[in-house]
Amino acid sequence: MSSFEYRNGKLHVESLPLEDIAREVGTPFFCYSTQAMVNAYNSFSDALSKAGVKGTICYALKANSNQSVIKTLAKAGAGADVVSEGELRRALAAGVDPKKIVFAGVGKKPSEMAAGLKAGILQFNVESLPELEALSQVATQLGVTAPIAFRINPDVDAKTHAKISTGKADNKFGIDIPGVRRFVEQAEALPNIAIESLAVHIGSQLTDASPFKDAFQRLATLYKELKSAGLPLKRIDFGGGLGIQYNDETPPDLSEYAAAVSEVLEGLDAECIFEPGRFLVGNAGVLVTETIYVKEGTNRRFLIIDAAMNDLIRPSLYDAWHDIIPLNQPAANAQLTPCDIVGPICESGDTFAQQRPLPEVKAGDFLAMESAGAYGAVMASNYNTRLNAPEVLVKSDQFAVVRKRIDYDTLIKQDVLPDWLS
Ligand SMILES: *Cc1c(COP(=O)(O)O)cnc(C)c1O
Repeated sequence: MSSFEYRNGKLHVESLPLEDIAREVGTPFFCYSTQAMVNAYNSFSDALSKAGVKGTICYALKANSNQSVIKTLAKAGAGADVVSEGELRRALAAGVDPKKIVFAGVGKKPSEMAAGLKAGILQFNVESLPELEALSQVATQLGVTAPIAFRINPDVDAKTHAKISTGKADNKFGIDIPGVRRFVEQAEALPNIAIESLAVHIGSQLTDASPFKDAFQRLATLYKELKSAGLPLKRIDFGGGLGIQYNDETPPDLSEYAAAVSEVLEGLDAECIFEPGRFLVGNAGVLVTETIYVKEGTNRRFLIIDAAMNDLIRPSLYDAWHDIIPLNQPAANAQLTPCDIVGPICESGDTFAQQRPLPEVKAGDFLAMESAGAYGAVMASNYNTRLNAPEVLVKSDQFAVVRKRIDYDTLIKQDVLPDWLS
């Protein structure tokens, strides 16, 4: 994470000491590096170019949908992969070209479809016949044609955490390959639908290239078959899912990923879409927190910090690992003690790390939880009536709060008393 490194004993984000931001903004807060996001985008895009693959990179907004993040990536050239009307609106508000927007998701409602059709997006990734029938109806009512991709379920094991694995036949996602031909016949009979593309997305945080290769191969074979059977396909959407390094994983490198794509593209004459989310923003963000208390238990030392599972749920939800480091650089020979790093929430699941070797940390010390740029702020809640952690964006030596901490009054006033209680 070269955009986050120690300089003069202090953890910096680009040219700024994180501690300075912490003192001004208050903890906990998320901090994102513009440089890290743009570098990730450019490396993805360069790897594709080098492999001779032409395509649109549609950033999967669900990883981090802050307007500033979307706009930073859009300025670098990204389109958007959205999974709800809310995300569609966010993408449009950030200035993403509708012709670079893909609408994915198993449960799009007719009102959401209408929003996408009115915006004139590139394609809807369709996952079931009832969904396609609804889309045909909405498009007919609006007097437009809906460009679609069939999202294929290739029945491939992504070898990632079960909760973010989406490409096995037992998952709720996509159309099974054996059922595709029948599906195509039914689709062709529906009005105001243009079948343009096939899509796949087998899961998230993939650290092994082979599931990608299998899925892409199956998708390409199907593409060839359907095209020679007369279907006017022109695009392949390879989905997202490329993993990042949180701990000691070794995700496929970009050239290997791009090679897997270019290999299956041979002779297909297809445009490409990619939907990376985590890859573009995961390592571009940290969650900064302050140690409230150091509690010496009978067998354990607990660091009780002011960030909690409501701010970053990945450790409780996915048993995810985040590196946790002090903002003040420890001495090279500092003695390490195993600590449990926990939040203040009244659940034992509110634990970020167990028996993690750390140099001495005192109450008041700041810590950074690394790789918190993806699936962090977007999954946050106000559980325990905790205020949201604000989001900060850094560019070189400037920073800005790009999402404020909402105050208690505003938070409580979201509840409305009925007449009989007021
Ligand atoms: C979640 C998702 C993505 C992004 O996944 P990452 O692992 O963050 O790259 C892309 N496409 C679809 C359809 C998704 O559901």
